[in-house]
Amino acid sequence: MKKTIGETPMIKIKYKYKYKNKEKEIYVKLEQYNLTGSIKDRIALYIIEETEKSKILKEKMPIIEATSGNTGISFAALGAKTNHPVYIFIPDFVSSERIKLLKSYGAKVTLVKREEGGFKKCIELADKLSKEINGYRPNQFSNYLNSKCHYLKTGREIIEQVKEEKIGGFVSGIGSGGTIMGVSKKLKEYYPNILIGAVMPKEMPLLNKDIPTRHKIEGIGDDFIPELLDQKIINKVFYIEDEDAINMARLLSKKLGLGVGISSGANFLGAVLLGESSNEIVVTIFPDDNKKYLTTDLSKPINLNKNLISNKIELLSYEEI
Ligand code: PMP
Repeated sequence: MKKTIGETPMIKIKYKYKYKNKEKEIYVKLEQYNLTGSIKDRIALYIIEETEKSKILKEKMPIIEATSGNTGISFAALGAKTNHPVYIFIPDFVSSERIKLLKSYGAKVTLVKREEGGFKKCIELADKLSKEINGYRPNQFSNYLNSKCHYLKTGREIIEQVKEEKIGGFVSGIGSGGTIMGVSKKLKEYYPNILIGAVMPKEMPLLNKDIPTRHKIEGIGDDFIPELLDQKIINKVFYIEDEDAINMARLLSKKLGLGVGISSGANFLGAVLLGESSNEIVVTIFPDDNKKYLTTDLSKPINLNKNLISNKIELLSYEEI
């Protein structure tokens, strides 16, 4: 039997890009199949289990986190299961579905306005509250258990699922950096020459300029370089435009029936671009599904602008592996 968290399915998507007679493939891990519908269930479960074991997280202790959504939703659901009250600090410009979901799992939610300092302010307020009420701060951006979980689980699952095929590239967007760090570390043990591609929002303001973010690829590009990230592991950075990421996600849904979130669209574009430099398998992640974005631009019609990379990709089919 499949567990409620982890052991997610993998598919390969066939497509053509640039050359009419050259069919290519991207291997994708579908993380929407986790308990609350995102990759973040993995780290919330692992962090709670490990810190309960080491007694850092004591019985009924509050969990306090700053998040752009999915991490908070995962902690809220698992906090309800394990009897930990959950306090979430979240920028007010995330999709309304995220905030409603957090509340539905019983989390106490504080919205922080862009003018108040956006994401960085969320972290400051979470730190302050955890001191005041003696709460546990998972701090996904610096918590080594985050990347370790992806090293032990997500990365290992990828190796097992692609079996005898050789992986030439891995692409992931960077939020906390946990996915790219953990998965890359595991894959590099098996494929030392693998190319690692990072996806970042093109519309992100310059880092460390203290301008809260305005881009639309929710879940990645959170205003600062996370402590977990070691930039040396990255071979290529793909700066993806908001509209291209959104349009790619729309196309995956309309053409293949894969209802995925905006960062999945961005990851797919990054994987196709990395695929131009590799004749071996390229793997990426679809971190969540489309349901948290129904009130966003994702629900608008396909953008037919021929300059978008998403419109230069011909999606052919996908199959489970
Ligand atoms: N996409 C989405 C939708 C996410 O919620 C996240 C996590 N914030 C990511 C991508 C990036 O994952 P990570 O935090 O492991 O870098």
